[in-house]
Amino acid sequence: MEMKNVLQKIDGYSEEITTLQRELVAIPALSPTYDEKPEHTGEAKKGAFLKTYLERHGFTDITSIEAPDDRVPGGTRPNLIARVRGARSDHTLWVMAHLDIVPPGDLSKWNSDPYALKVDGDVMYGRGVEDNHQGLVAGVMAARALIESKTTPARDLALLFVSDEECGSDYGISYVLEHQNPFKQGDLILVPDGGSPDGSEVEVAEKGIAWLKFKITGTQCHASIPQKGNNALRAGAHLIVALDELQTIFNDEDPIFIPPTSTFEPTKKEANVPNVNTIPGEDIFFLDCRILPSVSIDRVTAEIRKISDRIAAKFNVAVELSFEQRDDAAPATPVDAPVVRRITHSIKEVYGIEAKPIGVGGGTVAAALRRLDLPCVVWSKMDETMHGPNECAKISNIIGDAKVIAHMALSE
Ligand SMILES: [Zn+2]
Repeated sequence: MEMKNVLQKIDGYSEEITTLQRELVAIPALSPTYDEKPEHTGEAKKGAFLKTYLERHGFTDITSIEAPDDRVPGGTRPNLIARVRGARSDHTLWVMAHLDIVPPGDLSKWNSDPYALKVDGDVMYGRGVEDNHQGLVAGVMAARALIESKTTPARDLALLFVSDEECGSDYGISYVLEHQNPFKQGDLILVPDGGSPDGSEVEVAEKGIAWLKFKITGTQCHASIPQKGNNALRAGAHLIVALDELQTIFNDEDPIFIPPTSTFEPTKKEANVPNVNTIPGEDIFFLDCRILPSVSIDRVTAEIRKISDRIAAKFNVAVELSFEQRDDAAPATPVDAPVVRRITHSIKEVYGIEAKPIGVGGGTVAAALRRLDLPCVVWSKMDETMHGPNECAKISNIIGDAKVIAHMALSE
């Protein structure tokens, strides 16, 4: 009965959703990393606005964790926790969303002002409406429905709004984890900051990322007398082909990922000599590796070193290897973890579909939590228009996502 009341209440929140989105969109919250305008007070303004909003709507337990950053006018970046007490407080359902947005980009590609909400039927347009207001607003609406229907959830429902997600999280979740880690083993953690149009993908894992730079050094000379030099481009080309051996060496498969294997792709190639009749003495290219969590990046680079040494000896060149970027994979959230089972059940109850755990190519904020052994999922029903022009979110998706969150909070 309580469940039914709460879900029904959320069904009636269309107006509340557009009102809150309108207010959030009008407070551009850009990280000072994009440093250009005084808009960089935005995160603080957005945090302060939300605190007032939540107090006005009956939230009584709000904590803020301020991360010092002297690049912003107030000197700190906000992180906010709003908690609705449940029947048991040793066990919390977390909804973590971020306050910051990315710049709108080329304004001529927008059909409306990115900082003024436009509503067209079920669809809202504006910078941030999806990334990450969709998750933020869904969390707020789930909690408001509990408060307004005077319903005590089975466990605490806590909303965590963090700064700096788009620029590395040093002043956001990383700061929170380091200074005032609020998470306990056994908590259920949802990061509604990614998803699929039908809501069936529950992200539980990501691959590690290694971007490697290869610098091949031979000897430059005139192309008519190649015997006097060592062609770095030819050696580099042979090396690129030889690196395909990595696919065979590291052929483990994990079916939750698409594709299910580690991948090793040569990508960027730097210019070498400017003219056709010179044998290049130097050549530089890059390899983008996406590596399954079960494989260590050190093992991969050891194999790459071996292959490079072989080619270097054969062509009498030097091959220098360096990391352009390295992010070791966080341990995956087990597919049978309580948070995965609970959200899959709630998605089925609310949306009537079978959701499945999936892995992605790399780079979500959930990794910071998984590294601390905190199982968490990234999920939402969304079209993924984030970061583009005309970013949009559906009111019906926010209502549905809020119902999934409320369902998770209420289920025993
Ligand atoms: Zn985001």
